[in-house]
Amino acid sequence: MSPITRPRGSEGFPAEWKEILDRIDRIDPIRYGTTRNHGDGAVSVLSPYISRGVVSTRFVAERLRAVGYRTEDLTPFIQQMAWREYFQRVWQERGDDLNHDLKHSSDHVVSSSMPRRLMEGQSGIHSLDEMVNQLVTTGYMHNHYRLYLASVACNVGQTAWYQPARWMYYHLLDADWASNACSWQWVAGTFSSKRYYANQDNINRFSSTSQRGTFLDLTYEDLMVADVPELLRERCSPALTTPLPEATSPEVRTERPTFIYTFYNLDPQWHSGEEGNRILLLEPSYFNRYPVCERTMQFVLALSAMIPGIQVVVAEWDEFIRDARPGKVLYREHPANRHFRGDEEPREWLFPEVSGYYPSFFAYWKRCERLLRHHL
Ligand SMILES: Cc1cc2nc3c(=O)[nH]c(=O)nc-3n(C[C@H](O)[C@H](O)[C@H](O)COP(=O)(O)OP(=O)(O)OC[C@H]3O[C@@H](n4cnc5c(N)ncnc54)[C@H](O)[C@@H]3O)c2cc1C
Repeated sequence: MSPITRPRGSEGFPAEWKEILDRIDRIDPIRYGTTRNHGDGAVSVLSPYISRGVVSTRFVAERLRAVGYRTEDLTPFIQQMAWREYFQRVWQERGDDLNHDLKHSSDHVVSSSMPRRLMEGQSGIHSLDEMVNQLVTTGYMHNHYRLYLASVACNVGQTAWYQPARWMYYHLLDADWASNACSWQWVAGTFSSKRYYANQDNINRFSSTSQRGTFLDLTYEDLMVADVPELLRERCSPALTTPLPEATSPEVRTERPTFIYTFYNLDPQWHSGEEGNRILLLEPSYFNRYPVCERTMQFVLALSAMIPGIQVVVAEWDEFIRDARPGKVLYREHPANRHFRGDEEPREWLFPEVSGYYPSFFAYWKRCERLLRHHL
């Protein structure tokens, strides 16, 4: 079994079940609805646990419902979780298309490389720079600043979305390629009807700042036709590699079922209490394709330590099957697992009936909203 080097989780993100439940219990869906776009709004900071599959969107919604909130009070929060499910459905249906412009091609691009100063937190937009620094030091960034960053990179800086998206994903504890790629594409206008812009007034409003004179201090009409600002012209393409733990050989008792955990399924309640082999499979090919930083990998290992008896295996699926020869194998459905074979179980969707490809979130949400009362 590989050693778990930092079992306490990441700073601000403990890998302890009780703390995770407390975090859900602290959600105030009513304040969330009115403040979530503000830098200091009542957001849940739950995504690292949802993305890593420690808790599902359904689990969170049901726990909130049990507190006694009315469906209408919960709706703003549920709607945001539905964005996550929507993007997951897009990945399920469109597969690797996610890595290319989904609906419209980029017609506004001068470079595929990230503006260096933006990535280094030196764009001169104070609140955004602060949040970029927070991203690289903690692995978390508030949704509105993700939007600002993507807007400055893709639309103001005229950069193709793919490289900056990979850079942000690399640093996020909640790295989820569906939410990430689709959100970047939504901002860049390749998966939406228009590009998303935020000017300095907008940033000041949601950051409680009063900064003036920046390259974003323009009207929207002027911002949309402006040349790439001098500050964003220097480009870079950082090398992104995943520090995987050392490969070791697991002990697998073939008469027992083998439960496969992954980067996207670290649910300690999944088949808990049943006897079996528990394997966290980290496939190098996946992490070469979608690299994550040291902090994220340590977070994954720390979360996996909540699962009794788990063994960490660094190998491709075929290698693991060939070498360990497990008997019955169980895993949860995920677009990154299409090549797994065995008993595939569904994920805990909030809206399991609303599947397939919807060209827009609002078409998808319309169907979900009708089902909301049955579910909660
Ligand atoms: C450019 C960009 C990149 C993103 N990359 C990722 C990513 O790699 N992984 C990831 O999990 N999310 C990503 N998001 C979505 C969103 O920013 C985060 O899920 C959210 O900020 C997480 O913080 P929270 O848990 O405090 O959210 P809250 O506001 O408290 O929301 C509650 C939950 O709803 C879901 N959610 C909320 N907003 C969104 C959204 N816009 N899209 C999808 N789900 C949402 C998340 O599961 C979140 O935990 C990205 C958004 C943008 C604009």
